[in-house]
Amino acid sequence: MKGWRFTLQAPSYIALMTYLDDAAIRERVYRAHSTRATAGGHDNRQIIGRILQLRRERATLLGFANFADLVLEDRMAHSGKHAQQFLAELKDRTEAQFVAENEDLAAFRRTNEGQNASALEPWDVGYYAEKQRQALYDFDEEALRPYFPLERVVAGLFETVQRLYGIRVAEQAGAPVWHPDVKTYGIYDQDGTLLGAFYADWYPRETKRGGAWMDAFITGLPAKEGFKPHLGLMCGNLTPPVDGRPALLTHRDVQTIFHEFGHLLHHCLSRVEVRGLAGTSVAWDFVELPSQIMENWCWEREALDLFARHFETGEAIPDELFQKMKRARNFRSANAQMRQLGFGFIDLGLHIDYAPAEDGDVMQYARRILQEFSPAPLPPDHAMIAGFTHLFASPVGYGAGYYSYKWAEVLDADAFTRFRESGIFSREVGLEFREKILARGDSEDPAELYRSFMGRDPDLNALLERSGLLSATSA
Ligand SMILES: [Zn+2]
Repeated sequence: MKGWRFTLQAPSYIALMTYLDDAAIRERVYRAHSTRATAGGHDNRQIIGRILQLRRERATLLGFANFADLVLEDRMAHSGKHAQQFLAELKDRTEAQFVAENEDLAAFRRTNEGQNASALEPWDVGYYAEKQRQALYDFDEEALRPYFPLERVVAGLFETVQRLYGIRVAEQAGAPVWHPDVKTYGIYDQDGTLLGAFYADWYPRETKRGGAWMDAFITGLPAKEGFKPHLGLMCGNLTPPVDGRPALLTHRDVQTIFHEFGHLLHHCLSRVEVRGLAGTSVAWDFVELPSQIMENWCWEREALDLFARHFETGEAIPDELFQKMKRARNFRSANAQMRQLGFGFIDLGLHIDYAPAEDGDVMQYARRILQEFSPAPLPPDHAMIAGFTHLFASPVGYGAGYYSYKWAEVLDADAFTRFRESGIFSREVGLEFREKILARGDSEDPAELYRSFMGRDPDLNALLERSGLLSATSA
């Protein structure tokens, strides 16, 4: 037999929905994907109703109005209502652009296929959006790779945090490692105090877990004779060097390294005396602030010019390519935002408002919510939540916490405005961020920590502006 085998796993599914020309196959795969875990021995539909019921009972027993209030009490949002208001405001301010993007996409299809081209179905959206992206931006992410050799990126990252936080990162050869590729580094304060050390393990191996992450091995503590240093880990699965060429990264990889290093600094710059409240042991809707904020530097010309240099010629990213990269960043950003908001609405709706007697079938309840956030009509049997592991694969997990993704984006975009205003390498603002956020772990209510740095509560405008959604909302 001749052919290709595709699965419903993300790398296969997304590639197929983006590039496969045959609409009938896209439809078949879409329908299979949106009804996962609803048949035979793998039917989650009843189980989800039961999980929600037990979560309601547990919240009631503990004196809370609902499961979201129970989970969010010691998070930054504090209550389910507050998280819902947050999502609702973002939705209000994204909707106009969302409608406009979808009209543009439908018009794009008509331009190419004639005025009688049919309306977009859910299995068409990704496919035509990719064609539209290519037509509008002509931007190939691979073109950036030669400008991001790993060693220069890492050196640029260390230079960035040195400028900002007044710390020095230096390789410490000689420590025992589990593989010859693994490197070890020390992080030193301005006065030479060793604050922490970490391992960096960048390349894939047969026995290594996928993705990128940081881990905390030892939580250091202030001590009479100085400081007992922290110990941590940075791991990645980056394209290794081949044929004498250095490891060349994608821009996404570069952001990932900056991101994970932000988590590592949250760990290594902690000055909290109680281990359980130190470093990254903070609320879920706060933990991504130190990491995500680092990604902002990867989009600034001034920062990129520190390290983004062609591996052969040493030249900086040409301006034309840089502008393309910036423009392509916000392509269909309202759709991306609405998708995340839809999942957040479902999550909070199920854990706060859903009442089986009045609202009926839980799959249909979730489908009705998601429809408002979808660029095309969802099929009647759409059952995305049956496979929504974020909410249901562990006792709490992201249950009542899915909003945290957007929440953290608002925080990092908003907090970065202080660097923008004072210069992106402002040591003054950097040291304030270090003292008021990075050093403080969970030693205080995160909302208080945030206010101590910003002088006010988070504001949505910076995220909307960064996503190119501000003009559309005329705020
Ligand atoms: Zn993270």
